[in-house]
Amino acid sequence: MRIDLHTHTVASDGTDTPAELVAAAVAAGLDVLAITDHDTTRGWAEALDARPAGLTIVPGAEFSCVYYDPTGRRVSLHLLGYLFDPDDPALRAERSRLRESRLVRAEEIVRRLAADDFEITWEQVGALADGATVGRPHIARALVAAGVVPDVSAAFSELLSSRGGYYVRKADTDVFDSIGLITAAGGLPVFAHPIARRRGPVVGDEVVAAMAAAGLVGLEVNHPDHDADDREHAAGLARDLGLIGTGSSDYHGTNKTTRLAACTTDPEAYERLLALPAARAPVGP
Ligand code: AMP
Ligand code: ZN
Ligand code: FE
Ligand code: FE
Repeated sequence: MRIDLHTHTVASDGTDTPAELVAAAVAAGLDVLAITDHDTTRGWAEALDARPAGLTIVPGAEFSCVYYDPTGRRVSLHLLGYLFDPDDPALRAERSRLRESRLVRAEEIVRRLAADDFEITWEQVGALADGATVGRPHIARALVAAGVVPDVSAAFSELLSSRGGYYVRKADTDVFDSIGLITAAGGLPVFAHPIARRRGPVVGDEVVAAMAAAGLVGLEVNHPDHDADDREHAAGLARDLGLIGTGSSDYHGTNKTTRLAACTTDPEAYERLLALPAARAPVGP
C-alpha cells in the first residue's frame, strides 16, 4: 500500500487540476491519496469524479493557523483536517474567512512589491489564482512571468520569505480553535510539517503536547522539509504523545520540485487513522 496524505491542486496553490492529480497518483503507484488544498474543499468533487476504481481518496484540507507563545512570539502553523463534513457551518465560515484574509494580504504584498518597482499587478496575480485560494506561490509565478526571478523557489528566497520585508501576515485561526472546529465538524486534525524550520519559527514539544490534549490525532513525520533528525524527533514525539505519525509529499505540481509520493504514510498508521470516528469515510476500496 502506497499512501500520500498531503497534496495540493489548482484549488489552492498547486498546478495540477484535481483530475490531473488523480492521474498523477495512479502513475505514481499510489493506493491512497488525500487532497488537502489550503483552506478549501473546492477540489474534492472533481477529484472524486476522476477517481479510478482502484484508488482511495481521502478528502481533506490544510488549515492556516497561528500560535502565540507566552512571550507573544508568533508561530504560523498548518493543520491537515481529514474526512470532515464540508457543510459544517462553523468550519465552512472559517475557511471562507481565511480565504478572504489571504486575498487582502496578497493584495498588500503585491502593492509593496510594485511600490519597489517590481512590475507585477494584482490583476495578474488574481488571474493566475483564478478563484482558487490565493497564496504566495501565485505571487511568485507573477514575479517569474515578469522576469524578476528565474523560478518560484528564487521568488521565495529573495522576496517572499516570512523573514523578508514584503511579507504580510494573514489572519490565521488560533491553532486550538482550529483543532476544535475540525473536530466538531467530524474531522481528524493532524499537525502538518511540525518542524519545517526553513519556513519560519516552529513550536516546541510542549505546544505539540498541548495540541494533543486539545484533540490533535496525528503528526506529519515524513515530510520533504524534515531532515533525518527532524523525522526521528517527530516520530519519538508522536510515540510519546500517542499521536499517529504520518508521511506525505506536500505535492504542489510544478510550484515545487517535490514529486508526488516522495514521502508516504505507513499502512499501519493509515489504519489507525481510519479507526478513529470521522464524519466521512474515504472514497474507494
Ligand atoms: P502562503 O500560504 O501564502 O503563506 O504561502 C505558503 C505556501 O508557499 C506553502 O504552502 C508552500 O506551498 C509554498 N512555499 C513556501 N515556501 C516555499 C519555497 N521556499 N519554495 C516554494 N514554495 C514555497
Ligand atoms: Zn501550499
Ligand atoms: Fe503547509
Ligand atoms: Fe501543504
